[in-house]
Amino acid sequence: MVRLSISRHWREKGAYYRLEGIECLDCGKRSYPPAPVCPHCGSRNVRRVKLPRTGRLLSYTITYSIPEGFREYAPVMLGLIELDDGTRLVSQLTDTKPEELRENMRVEAVLRRVQVDGEYGLIHYALKFRPHRPGGRKE
Ligand SMILES: [Zn+2]
Repeated sequence: MVRLSISRHWREKGAYYRLEGIECLDCGKRSYPPAPVCPHCGSRNVRRVKLPRTGRLLSYTITYSIPEGFREYAPVMLGLIELDDGTRLVSQLTDTKPEELRENMRVEAVLRRVQVDGEYGLIHYALKFRPHRPGGRKE
């Protein structure tokens, strides 16, 4: 899960909402989230690319043991996702139940509010993935 403060959210909003990653001009591999260095080969010769918002769920884990203060989010479902261009990433899964998860199921990216900081009223957003339902409601 990628957690953002509001200032970082505004700075990086485009990158996260559009699901931008990087493409390495040396080894040709793509990765997410955007970083100044290619995680595959260490090259700094990278450029930003728009990643597809849909892909498939390669595997997943379900965690029922959640720290105090985050219990309302239990169980946490984490998925290893391969986007339609082959980019792999780990993300929290949302809008679904553990028993609905299947390997190789189609998934799509959505931006979800994950936490409101009571003291400062800061809203934290995270990119999550949910089962892709063709013809379902758009956001
Ligand atoms: Zn590389």
